[in-house]
Amino acid sequence: MSRLARFRHNYLQIGTFPFYLVHAVAIAGIIHYGWSWSGFALAMIFYGVRMFFLTAAFHRYFSHRTYKTSRPFQFILAIFAQTCAQRGALWWSANHRAHHKYSDMPQDIHSAKQKGFWWSHMGWFLSNDHHGTDLGKIADFAKYPELRFMDTPNMMLMPAVVLALAIGFIGGIHALLWGFFVSTTLLWHGTFTINSLSHLIGTRRYATTDDSKNNLVLALITCGEGWHNNHHHYQSATRQGFFWWEIDFTWYGLKLFEALGLVWDLRKPPQHVLDNVIDPAEAGLAISDREIASPPPDTALPPPAL
Ligand SMILES: [Zn+2]
Ligand SMILES: [Zn+2]
Repeated sequence: MSRLARFRHNYLQIGTFPFYLVHAVAIAGIIHYGWSWSGFALAMIFYGVRMFFLTAAFHRYFSHRTYKTSRPFQFILAIFAQTCAQRGALWWSANHRAHHKYSDMPQDIHSAKQKGFWWSHMGWFLSNDHHGTDLGKIADFAKYPELRFMDTPNMMLMPAVVLALAIGFIGGIHALLWGFFVSTTLLWHGTFTINSLSHLIGTRRYATTDDSKNNLVLALITCGEGWHNNHHHYQSATRQGFFWWEIDFTWYGLKLFEALGLVWDLRKPPQHVLDNVIDPAEAGLAISDREIASPPPDTALPPPAL
C-alpha cells in the first residue's frame, strides 16, 4: 500500500468523519460565538466527570479488574464511560490489555517508540485496522450480554449521542457547544496523551521494559493516569498515584464510591513496590505483567456470538 493510501486508510475514511466533525464544530463554534468563561467551566465539568468514569471504568475496572462491584453498577460504569465516545467498554479494554501485553514491542498497537507520536496519539484509534473488538482478550466481561450489546456498532456511541442531545435540550446551543463539542475534543486528546506522551515525557521510578513515564501534568489532566510508569510496573493497584503527593483524582473518587458501598476491594500497591524493592519475582515483572494482561484461565470463555 502506498504512503498516501496508508494515510487515507488510517486517518481519512468514512469512520473518521465524526471525529473531525466534532473538532470542527468545537473550533468553528468558539470562533463564531466567541470565548466564554462560563462555557469553558461547563466544558471542564463534563471533561472531568467523564475522564473520571473513563479511567475508573474502562481502565481500572474493565481492563485491569483492580476492584470489584455489582453487575448493575458495572453496567452503569460502562454506560457513563461510553459517554466519552471512545467506543465500547469491551473494545477499549481489549485493546488496552493488548497494549500491556506487548508494551513498546513491535506488536504494541499504539507505541510511539515503534510507530511515532501521531500514530500512538490518534492514528491507531482512527485506523480501519482496529475497529473490531477482540472478545478473546476480554472474555471475562464479554460473557455479559448487556456489555456485548453496548459494544455493537449501533450502540457503542449511543451514550455520547444521548448526552449531547440532553445537554442541547436542557442548556441550548451554548451548552451543547461547550459541554459536548469542546469538552469531547479535549477529552479525546487528554486521554490520548497517555498512549503518546506518557511513553515519551516524564520520569521513571521503575525499570519496566517499556518506555512508560510518570508525569504530574498528565496525571492532572487525566485524573491520575499520568503515573503511567507506576502503573506499568504494578497494574493490579486501583491507586496509580502510589504516594500522597502523586495526585490521583480517580482514586479519590473511587474511595468515595467505596464509602457509598458502590464498589469494594480497592487495591493499593503493596509495601515492597512502594519501597522499590526488586525481588526475584519482580525482576521478571515485565513478563508477569503481560500474563496479567491476559484474561485469567478460569474466566477465559470462547468469544460469544454477537
Ligand atoms: Zn493499564
Ligand atoms: Zn502504556
